[in-house]
Amino acid sequence: MQTRLADWIKDTPQGVEADAILRKCVHCGFCLATCPTYNLLGDELDSPRGRIYLMKQMLEGAPVTQRTQLHLDRCLTCRACETTCPSGVEYGRLVDIGRDLVETKVPRSPAERMRRWFLKTFLPSRGMFGAALALGRIFKPVLPTSLARKIPERRAPGAVPAARHARRMLVLGGCVQPSMAPSINAAAARVLDRIGISLLDAPRAGCCGAVTFHLNYQHEALDYVKANIDAWWPHVEAGAEAIVITASGCGTMVKEYGHLLRHDPAYAARAARISDLARDISEVIAAERGALAAQLPGVAQAHNVAFHSPCSLQHGLKITGTVESILRDVGYTLTPVPDSHLCCGSAGTYSILKPGISKRLLKDKVRALESGFPETIATANIGCLAHLESGTDVPVRHWIELLEEALEAAAPPRGDRG
Ligand code: SF4
Ligand code: SF4
Repeated sequence: MQTRLADWIKDTPQGVEADAILRKCVHCGFCLATCPTYNLLGDELDSPRGRIYLMKQMLEGAPVTQRTQLHLDRCLTCRACETTCPSGVEYGRLVDIGRDLVETKVPRSPAERMRRWFLKTFLPSRGMFGAALALGRIFKPVLPTSLARKIPERRAPGAVPAARHARRMLVLGGCVQPSMAPSINAAAARVLDRIGISLLDAPRAGCCGAVTFHLNYQHEALDYVKANIDAWWPHVEAGAEAIVITASGCGTMVKEYGHLLRHDPAYAARAARISDLARDISEVIAAERGALAAQLPGVAQAHNVAFHSPCSLQHGLKITGTVESILRDVGYTLTPVPDSHLCCGSAGTYSILKPGISKRLLKDKVRALESGFPETIATANIGCLAHLESGTDVPVRHWIELLEEALEAAAPPRGDRG
């Protein structure tokens, strides 16, 4: 696509990056077929190609209106369009730039500003979110069903093994996951402990910054990014092999740290190293298959599982088929999931900011996941897990918990273990 960026943007880092991305787009429209909002709303401006045009117009100096903001807000940032695009258009990076610029040009209403401010303050705070969730659990029986369904039951984490191995990896604690599902990172620590890896939590690391970034407080989000780098760095220097992330949405963000801080002389090199070390837990388990094989059960679990691959896993991190093959290896039967490339509608804070579209996507996703009559739905991201739980009676778990259960079932009785 030919471009002629306006003088105010063309020589800035954002302008240079956006221009290179725009020029790759050849208007072919292949991406429309896999865009959830276009499938649902049928409006070209709610498709990747339409949004790319809107951003191009803005960058070329055309007036920016609430219409531009609306269509960019409706985008789930699921990045299914990137997976489909034959020209390698990095839509996710372009829309980050587009949203940042629209935010400076189109004022939001006071109510909308307040809502976004509240979300970016509340969600990344473990203390505030944890206290609110604890209260919600107490009052769950008297809450309206629609709200009560959004409050997950507490699953006890169980014992976390002490750091006893020479091989060590860091784990991202995150913001909402420790209160919503502490069982996930605990299961990951126990699985890795079995194969000779200790998982360490750096106490001063916190939210990955994705919630704040995607609410368009992009510069503020960098404070979370830098805090995590500072917290992890001493462990990296001491030999931590990787930064393990059990929420694929957070993993996508940590993989971007190097890009986000590439112009920051104090952080650029360390941020790039941290992104290099970031691993989704499925990548770690897949790389350690040899060690796991010795512990694999000889019997099938006789348990049907539907795997929901989060957009952040399949389109963001480009990890496809890995979790499914790990689950099959330990005896689970994977049920078919039609349209598995489509978003469930969770998408960070999207389910709160755009509840109508989100609910329609959830309904379609639950129908697809339940179509093979699974006993359990597995996923790889806490946001999707909580969102799916609100729309189905089938139990929803993180797949690492299922892996641990299969390994535990195959292990000799505790007294016989070496
Ligand atoms: S598939 Fe890629 S090149 Fe084609 S219109 Fe979409 S973004 Fe542009
Ligand atoms: S990121 Fe998802 S919702 Fe947004 S344009 Fe691409 S496919 Fe559509």
